Amino acid sequence: MTYSLDTRRYSLPFRSPLRTAHGRWSLRQGILVRLRSSDGTTGYGEVAPIPGFGRETLDADEEQLKLLGAMPTAEVLASVPVDYACVRGALAGALRAFAGTGSTPKAMRDLLPVTALLPAGRDVLGAIPGKVELGFRNFKWKVGVGDPADEQALLDDVLAALPSGAKLRLDANGAWDRRQSERWLDRCAERPIEHVEQPISPESRGAIDSLMGLAGDYPTPVALDESLVGQVDIEAWLGRGWPGVYVVKPGILGDPAHSLDLLHRAKARVVFSSSLETGVGARDALSWAFSWPGEARALGFGVWPLFQDERFDGPFLAPFWRWSEVSSLDPEPLWNALS
Ligand code: MG
Repeated sequence: MTYSLDTRRYSLPFRSPLRTAHGRWSLRQGILVRLRSSDGTTGYGEVAPIPGFGRETLDADEEQLKLLGAMPTAEVLASVPVDYACVRGALAGALRAFAGTGSTPKAMRDLLPVTALLPAGRDVLGAIPGKVELGFRNFKWKVGVGDPADEQALLDDVLAALPSGAKLRLDANGAWDRRQSERWLDRCAERPIEHVEQPISPESRGAIDSLMGLAGDYPTPVALDESLVGQVDIEAWLGRGWPGVYVVKPGILGDPAHSLDLLHRAKARVVFSSSLETGVGARDALSWAFSWPGEARALGFGVWPLFQDERFDGPFLAPFWRWSEVSSLDPEPLWNALS
């Protein structure tokens, strides 16, 4: 079969710039992909590499898409090199619209809780009451942005502001060294912290040994996020017997089916997470989360409303999502909005 392939590049300002240990991020860039067959079937996918997350760049991805030509066959679509995981993932996602093509995740869960993303620094305290009122019980706070002593002092205020039984994740985005990580994990040990995400950057010297050491030495689980750029990393950490949590962003995994199968067979603890993509990629990423057969954890997708142009947002932010709501997201209006 031959497809017609079209792409539309986007450049979408966030409603407010994101502050993380990686710095400020104010503009999301990516590419929407559309595949059509001669019988009129249409599938959409999204290429949205995360700057600073692995080596894939949007410009290189765009070049790869051009190499496929306007009328690629299934064999040509399957020929994208593994280094272009976001392109492979977008094409695999678009191909799922065609019966019998690609790997089709089967949604098995009806309902999943959603984690509300809390802003870094003191802004966190102002953001909590509104989220609690909406019914959220799962939260993620970005740390590693300001002075570590100030943030540690804030931790108890944050916990006090949350309702009892709430779960709090901390995400350091690799900002700490070993000693700072130990201080944080000491502090977390007696507190209801669900996990500490990526305390140490994968780029720092001895990162693998440090992360393994931290995961073994403290009761609070440690989660890997930036350390998991693709299938190769997931295989490597499974091989090391990583005892902590795996934060999986389906949008940057190429075709997630293989990685998720390995993780499931290893009985790994998996949290599904947003790449801050538009509703097109988010719908596809969430389909993997809803079809995950392992233990269900709150979705790391509590990022919306995200874009100044709200047409590109994913599902309306709520403490729980039903698969029926997520699967009803229609990519076509988003595609048309880029014309
Ligand atoms: Mg993270």
